[in-house]
This record gives sequence, structure tokens and C-alpha cells, in this order.
Amino acid sequence: MKYTIDEVLQFISDNDVKFVRLSFCDIFGTIKNISILSEELPRAFKNGISFDASSIRGFLNIEESDLFLYPDPSTLAILPWRPQQGRVVRFYCDIKYPDKTPFEGDGRAILLKAVNKAQEMGYKIEIGSECEFYLFEEDEKGNPTKIPQDNAGYFDIAPLDKGENVRRDISLTLEQMGILPECSHHEQGPGQNEIDFKYSDAMSAADNLVTFKSVVKTIAHLNGLYASFMPKPLKDCSGSGLHINISILKNNENIFDNIKNSSSKEAENFIAGILNRIKEITVFLNPLTNSYNRFGSHSAPKYVTWSYQNRSQLVRIPAAEGIYSRMELRSSDPSCNPYYAFALLIYAGLEGIENNIELKKPSNLNLYQASEDVLKNYDTIPDTLEEAVRIAEKSEFVANCLPSNTLKKYLSFKTDECILCEKSGNKEEFEHNTYFY
Ligand code: GLU
Ligand code: MG
Ligand code: MG
Repeated sequence: MKYTIDEVLQFISDNDVKFVRLSFCDIFGTIKNISILSEELPRAFKNGISFDASSIRGFLNIEESDLFLYPDPSTLAILPWRPQQGRVVRFYCDIKYPDKTPFEGDGRAILLKAVNKAQEMGYKIEIGSECEFYLFEEDEKGNPTKIPQDNAGYFDIAPLDKGENVRRDISLTLEQMGILPECSHHEQGPGQNEIDFKYSDAMSAADNLVTFKSVVKTIAHLNGLYASFMPKPLKDCSGSGLHINISILKNNENIFDNIKNSSSKEAENFIAGILNRIKEITVFLNPLTNSYNRFGSHSAPKYVTWSYQNRSQLVRIPAAEGIYSRMELRSSDPSCNPYYAFALLIYAGLEGIENNIELKKPSNLNLYQASEDVLKNYDTIPDTLEEAVRIAEKSEFVANCLPSNTLKKYLSFKTDECILCEKSGNKEEFEHNTYFY
């Protein structure tokens, strides 16, 4: 259900809504919000609500720091865990300067541009993400511990799996917010879980992912648990990935549908485009020093390769039919800014189509068991955050996709992070303190 402004105002008065959260993300995809009284909402739609953009990482300097939030009426959702009387709703917002021009660092504005480019070329991009996370026990004060909720593994059931109740609560909450939780299960690691929600157009998919992460954290905490989206929270256990599934409609037909019999040139070009730029955009898909601990084991990729059902590859074409036919990118992790990540993937794929980039043969082998002799033929994704930053800095492609100010700030924060990690002398401790929460 997508609402117009009039429908929203009607909904607010019909449903005893007292507070409105205006949400947006900083340049790293961290959700931020301000609460206003529902009476202020008409003003917010008309003139926006101002905030101090110098206090948001990567936004503006203190000298010129006013930006305005304009709620997007189509993103209305009730926060079901807040009181039922004097309810709370939230919107995602578009961010604008005082003169109403869009703020270029706004992830939604960046993704919208990419979506529009696809549309001009005749394509509608649909994205479904699969987001893994860990649940840790909280102590008696409600603070996170390092103890995983259980010792269960992939697809285990209770009593080994202690996550069934919290996954149920999360799924029901998502459903109340208009996000359809298609399936959920215990993942490979102790305390590791996955809940997959239905794919949608790229913008809703990014908004929904941000919502998903905040729902998981909130509902976990209400159950006495701490949810962490850190890519590799436990050293020798499975990491948490964010698989990004992409399908593309052209004249209402999914162009990935015929890829298995090699009769979908555009889908092949799209994948080739992504493989071609993957190293340049990795800093946006895997933004933490810890992201790089995940690669090369426990079903996470390392090489720039693709194949069909094979889970050791960077890109996989899952066994699926019709509208569910798609490509799955397996390197990205939950710490990315989904607006930036989706935008860059769309641009890279479209470039593949525009330039008719040839997709190489699939590498149909288990890359975890292949010999060094074979593996040396494949290019790898960057090994460290530092390497990923360096490659992105030199990338003309990335410079053409992202506004230069934002790009500069993003990369400079990431460079500082590498230095801090190095200086700490204890990578594991640095990563726990910086990324676990
Ligand atoms: N946890 C794995 C990763 O780090 C993925 C497991 C799966 O295939 O779902 O990407
Ligand atoms: Mg999984
Ligand atoms: Mg998957």
C-alpha cells in the first residue's frame, strides 16, 4: 500500500497517531530520526523539518549546516512496538537544502538517479536482499554480552535453535509494517539467523532493508537479546552476508528468465558489468575492516567469478523460475549503505548492457577446494578495506556515479578507519568495539 499526502493525513487522524518519526540515513547507511507531533506533519510535507546536518557523519560543515527533511508519504508505517494509544508512525524522508534543491549526499536521491537511468533504458530493477545476523545474550542490565544465544546450526530446530520465538516476533512485526517476511531459519553460526523478506522495486528494497535492521535490533532487545549485523563477529564461524538478488523487468518480462539457456544477452551483459566493476565498488558493499575477515570461507566468496547454483562464487544464478529468476551477489554484507550499494550495482550492470560487455564462462567448480594452479587464473575481490579504498579512489566509474563531495568524505572516513584500526595494535578488539554494536 502506497499512500498519498491526503491519505496519510486521513490515516493519522483515523488511527490515533500522536508522534511521527522522520527517518533518513547518514552516508554509511546508519538510520537516524527525529520525532515530531502529528499536528506538525502538514508543515513537514510543505516546508520540511530542519536539522543540524553538521552532526550527521558525512553530511555538511558547521558553517552551513541546515538541511530539511521532507517525509515521503508512500513510506508510511506504524511502529508496532510503540504504544497503541497515541501511536507512532515513521516515514523515510527526502533531504533538501533551504532553497529546496535536493541534498546530493542523500542516499535516496543517489538511488533514485540510478533507478531513473534504468527506466530511461527501459528497465525496471527489482531487488531482494537476504540479511543474516547474530543474536547474543544480554546481561541483567540489558547490555550486550559476547555469548551467542544458542549453539545451533543451519536449519536446526528447537530446543537446539533458541531463536524461533524471536524470529516469529520479528516476522510478525515486519508484516504489520507492510514488509512480507517470506521465510526464516537458523543460519550456520551459533546464534546466527536469517529472515528473508519479499523483493520489491530498488528504492522500497533499500528502505525495507533499513527498516528490517531496526526491527531486528528492537525486537531482539525486547526479547533480552542483542542483534549484531557485524560481518564477522565470531572468528572461526560463519560470517553474516547480505546477498543482493537482482531481477530486471523489460516490457514486464524478467530478462533473467532465459539466462539458463543462454538466450538472455542483456542479463549476461548486466552480470558482466557488475563483475567488471566489483573491485571498484567493494568499499561500498563491504565498508568495514571486519568485512574482509568474512571472505573466502563459510560460503562467502573471494574470487571474481560466477556460476549457477554454486555457493562458492561471487555471483550465482539460483535455481528459480519465472519472476523469481535472478542473479545473486554474495559478497556484500549488512554493514553497507543499501542506497549507495544498490545504486552502484545498477550503474555497473547498466554499463555492462550499454557496452555489450561479454560474460565469461561460468567457473563451475568448488572454489574452496580448487588447487592453487586453478585459482591463480581468477582475479580476487580486495583483501582489505585499505585496498578497497585505494581502488575506489582511482575509479573513474565511481567518480561518475557518486557526487564528488560525498565520495571524498566517504573515502576519507574509511581511510581514517584503516589508520585507527592499524594504530590500535589489536584489530580484533578494535573491530569489536567499533562494529559489534
Ligand atoms: N553466511 C554466509 C556468508 O557469509 C552465507 C550463507 C548462505 O549461503 O546463506 O555470506
Ligand atoms: Mg544465508
Ligand atoms: Mg542467498
